[in-house]
Amino acid sequence: HDYNKDDIRQMAKDENVKFLRLMFTDLFGTIKNVEVPISQLEKLLDNKLMFDGSSIDGFVRIEESDMYLYPDLSTWMIFPWSSERGKIARVICEVYTPDKEPFEGDPRNNLIRVLDDMKKAGFTSFNIGPEPEFFLFKMDENGKPTTTLNDQGSYFDMAPMDLGENCRREIVLTLEEMGFDVEAAHHEVAPGQHEIDFKYADALEAADNIQTFKLVVKTVARKYGLYATFMPKPLAGINGSGMHINMSLFHNDGNAFYDKKGELELSKDAYYFLGGLLTHARSFTAICNPTVNSYKRLVPGYEAPVYVAWSGSNRSPLIRVPSSRGLSTRLELRSVDPTANPYLAIAAILEAGLDGLRNKIEPTESVDRNIYRMDEEEREENHITNLPDTLHNALKDLETDTVMRKAMGSHLFQSFVEAKNLEYNAYRTQVSKWERDQYMELY
Ligand code: GLN
Ligand code: MG
Ligand code: MG
Ligand code: MG
Repeated sequence: HDYNKDDIRQMAKDENVKFLRLMFTDLFGTIKNVEVPISQLEKLLDNKLMFDGSSIDGFVRIEESDMYLYPDLSTWMIFPWSSERGKIARVICEVYTPDKEPFEGDPRNNLIRVLDDMKKAGFTSFNIGPEPEFFLFKMDENGKPTTTLNDQGSYFDMAPMDLGENCRREIVLTLEEMGFDVEAAHHEVAPGQHEIDFKYADALEAADNIQTFKLVVKTVARKYGLYATFMPKPLAGINGSGMHINMSLFHNDGNAFYDKKGELELSKDAYYFLGGLLTHARSFTAICNPTVNSYKRLVPGYEAPVYVAWSGSNRSPLIRVPSSRGLSTRLELRSVDPTANPYLAIAAILEAGLDGLRNKIEPTESVDRNIYRMDEEEREENHITNLPDTLHNALKDLETDTVMRKAMGSHLFQSFVEAKNLEYNAYRTQVSKWERDQYMELY
């Protein structure tokens, strides 16, 4: 929406908004909220609202602890679950330094920068349609998640009182009330697992939507006594949760990936973009799959990708070309999981694609056979490599990729690599139950 300051004042008054929730996202993809009473509205509209940035992960820079929140008025949205006392409106903000410069450690500012580069390259928008998946677990009396799924049945079981089904329906209704265009909502393959797809939007709005979506899912689930988690692999032995990303580039003449006369009706640009994605796939994995747990999802047998390959038909490797053409022509990247910071992930895949366009990178041949039935030699003949198998190896690939450094900017890149290496080391030095079960009595 194209709101100006007066529209905001009017809506706040008409809807009895009592609190403003100012949202931004930290390095790790966590949503940060600063809630202020409506009396601060004028200050906010004048870009004069300050907060202490030194306590935010990835923002730490003692000399810059005073930060400003500049509201993006187009993101004004009133939460439907506000209390009797008045409503709460959310506004997504950009973080600015006291010198009125966009703070380079703000992932949203960074995405805006990369989108500007895209515009300079002659495109008008990068459209993103995400497919987030999540699990609903029962909650204990302290409001903590248990490992008990709320439905144990298989895909076709329909209990008369399926908490998950009702909860999912309310999530969809809430999203619609907030202006989301929900395209599909369904039970996923694993018990207790769900997927909700919303309509594609321009990259920045799509990333904002993903963040708001997670908040809505968690809030509504709680009302049903359920705990919603976007952890990629909460339980071993069943499917994990991904967040497939559908993407297309637009220019003034419409979808830049579509060419009626091209091979598979894809344009030359679509192939170059694809070539860029394949080339940088290993190095953007650390960004798109940023947790230790992410790599427990990327294993064979659970519909998650393991190899770097693409398919023009209906197979399901890392990148797929869904069958729709014309305006809906798109590429679907299937590795991304919902722990990814959406601003960083989208910036990384866009920069990878733009690199393909700039350097005219031809993609490898498409693979329309089942890769999991090939042996190593056959995979090599088909130029199929592996995705990194741990966060540690993913970080090694990321660290050497200058295009990814450019995608994140030096500040974010450095903080990210540093923080994630620490995270991996914290994990590496733990001793798990599996190890004790395996070795305690054997040795
Ligand atoms: N849950 C699967 C994953 O981990 C995807 C399943 C699907 O949407 N086909 O990516
Ligand atoms: Mg789907
Ligand atoms: Mg799915
Ligand atoms: Mg999909």
